Amino acid sequence: MSQDMSPRAGLTVCPWKYGKRWVYSITYDEALADLNRFALPLHEEFAIPGHVELLVGQMGQIRQAGNSSYNGMRHMNAQELRDLLALGWGVGNHSWTHQVITPEMVEEEIGHAKRVLEEAIGEPIILFCSPGDNTNMAQHVLEACRAHGYLGAMSLTDALNRPTDELFWINRTALHEQYYAPFFSEYDPYRNLRQAHQVQGWLIDYCHCPLETAVHPNKDCTQAQLRQRFETVLSEGGDAVWCAVPEEVLSYHLMRRHAQIEILDESTDEHRYRIDLPHLPEQVPYRALTLELHVPAAWCRDPLVEIGAQSVPAELVRPGVVRVTSQVTDGTCVRVAATPRRV
Ligand SMILES: [Zn+2]
Repeated sequence: MSQDMSPRAGLTVCPWKYGKRWVYSITYDEALADLNRFALPLHEEFAIPGHVELLVGQMGQIRQAGNSSYNGMRHMNAQELRDLLALGWGVGNHSWTHQVITPEMVEEEIGHAKRVLEEAIGEPIILFCSPGDNTNMAQHVLEACRAHGYLGAMSLTDALNRPTDELFWINRTALHEQYYAPFFSEYDPYRNLRQAHQVQGWLIDYCHCPLETAVHPNKDCTQAQLRQRFETVLSEGGDAVWCAVPEEVLSYHLMRRHAQIEILDESTDEHRYRIDLPHLPEQVPYRALTLELHVPAAWCRDPLVEIGAQSVPAELVRPGVVRVTSQVTDGTCVRVAATPRRV
């Protein structure tokens, strides 16, 4: 893989799409139908997409999983999941049975569950989400995820994800009313936000199904706390935060990590580069890159940037630096010059 963010000649790939400083996503394990009543309206109000991880073996059914606090609530059915996709959400596999996955079980929990879910919603599943705890991030589970064409696996480790991290141990921040004993805590709507800005991180919140009161204070927040979180993400993040569904973030991450930049020409009249993506996994669903081009001051007056045969609008980021976001394929050529003056 190429090394991404270090400037290579006059063309740099940004750490995150649109040149944003950090990224915010939120995930709801189990994909319970009550999300439609309590969480979805907030997502629509704030225009932040969400993500559900379905216990695939109980799709559309009343939950009966061990001694889960959520037993008796209903999991979403295929139509409800499709409705969420249409609103910009994403769907992941949260296993078939929600048990500890032994090597004998990986085919059903990782492979079969993926196929059933894909059939139900009509879209590829590229994310696995560990049920229970990080026990299900075991090596044999992650190997099965890779073999079955997933592009990432989400854990329950409370940490940020860096632009350079690999994706088969994605960290998530527990958005819960209170943490487990002995480290009791107070709900903190600022949790990890400042750090995400500082390290250019990808912050993924995780909870289950916020209601008027939390179903379990160690497993969820309330609807009011969820609203407070969104307000805080947006007030703290301003224009620096990219709120996005994990599939899009993961796609950008892989595009950046696989991009190889070749200088074709850096003469005084124009700069030309080629971007190769020789080992990009074919399952990557979104194929955009945000590029920064370092150009002479004179070209900043009205920069002309062409990606392939298309002219794309460029914005001035700093003196001598313009930025574009565009679809990129293997072998895409980028050209930057001054726009010819009208005479
Ligand atoms: Zn779960």
